[in-house]
Amino acid sequence: MAKSHNLLNYDRVAMADFFEQQGEKAYRATQVFRRLHHDSPQSTDIFCDLPTALRTKLAQTTSYPNLPLASDHVATDGVCKLLFDVGGDRIETVIIPESNRTTLCVSSQVGCALACRFCLTGKQGFSRNLSTAEIISQLRQANRLLPPGKKITNVVFMGMGEPLLNLDAVLSALKIMIDTHGYALPPRRVTVSTAGVVPAMARLATLPVALAVSLHAPTDTLRDEIMPINRKYPLDTLMAACHRHILNRSRAFITFEYVMLDGVNDSVACARALIRLLHGLRCKVNLIPFNIFPDTPYQPSPYEAIDRFRDVLMRGGVMTTVRKTRGNDILAACGQLAGSVQARTMGLGSEKPLLRA
Ligand code: SF4
Repeated sequence: MAKSHNLLNYDRVAMADFFEQQGEKAYRATQVFRRLHHDSPQSTDIFCDLPTALRTKLAQTTSYPNLPLASDHVATDGVCKLLFDVGGDRIETVIIPESNRTTLCVSSQVGCALACRFCLTGKQGFSRNLSTAEIISQLRQANRLLPPGKKITNVVFMGMGEPLLNLDAVLSALKIMIDTHGYALPPRRVTVSTAGVVPAMARLATLPVALAVSLHAPTDTLRDEIMPINRKYPLDTLMAACHRHILNRSRAFITFEYVMLDGVNDSVACARALIRLLHGLRCKVNLIPFNIFPDTPYQPSPYEAIDRFRDVLMRGGVMTTVRKTRGNDILAACGQLAGSVQARTMGLGSEKPLLRA
C-alpha cells in the first residue's frame, strides 16, 4: 500500500481532521502530533503508544520522512549551515548559536522570485514553494543535530524565499512551531520576514508571531532600483499595511531590516528620510552590514558610515541596532544563501505567477 500521507504536513487541526477521516479519535491525533514534534527528537517510533491495529494502519499509509542532509558546514564562529536535498534542489538552513539562545534561519521556497539586487538567493531565481513538511523538517532536524539538552529557541524566516508568497504552507508550519503540543516556541520568538507582499500581511497577522520587513531603502526611487517588488507595492502601500499591522495589537512592533550598501543607501539624507518614513510606527531598525558574494555590484558600507547612520536614527527617536555578522566565512550570513536551484525562473516578470498573493 502506498504511503501517501506525510504527517509532517499537518498542523494539529489538520492532523485531527486526518484521524477523523480514518475513523479515529481526535486525542490520537494529538498523541501522534506530540510524538512527531514535541517529545524527544530522537524518537523513531512515533506510533509506540497506539493500539496495534491503528499502528499497523498508520505504518502502511503514512510517513514522516527526514529531509536528506546533503552537507553541513560549521563556521569559525560556530554558525552551522545545513544543505538539505529537496527533490534534487538544495535549500539552506542556518543554526546560529548564541550565549542565551539558539536561532534557526529557515527557508520557505527553493530560490526566490523577488530578485532583490543585493541578495544571492535572488540571483538564483525561483524554482518552487516548499511544503509545510519541508519547512517544519528544517526545525525538526536541526533539533536532532544539536547536542543533548539543547534546542532551537528562536526561528526566523529569513532563509531562501519570500514566506508570504508561500503563505498556506508557512502558516501551517508556524502553527506547529508555536503549538504547545508542537515545538511550543513563544510566538514572539518566531519572526517572519517579508520584502513587502502587502496583500498577504493581514493573513499573517492572524497569528501572534513577530513581523520583520525587509525595507533597505527610504524612498520609492531607491527601493524600486534595489527591490523590484517595490514597483508592485510601493512604500505608501507598504507603510499603510505596517500601520494596520500594529493597530489593535498593543504589544506588537515591527523590525525593519536595512542592509547597508556603500554609497547607495547609507547617507545621512537616507537616514533622515527613514526617520520621516517610520514616524508614528512602533518599530526598530536593524542595520545589516552587507555580506559580499561573487559578482555583486555592491560594496559593504564602512563601519563609520554604519555608526553615523545609526546615530542619526537614534537622535531622530528610532530604536536602532546593528546586526552582528555571523557565518560569512561559509556563506551562511544574511543574503548569502544560495542553495542549488535547478529548474528556475528569473525574477519578476517571469512566466510563473509569482506575485499571486
Ligand atoms: S532578500 Fe529575501 S525577498 Fe529579496 S531576493 Fe533575497 S530571499 Fe528573496
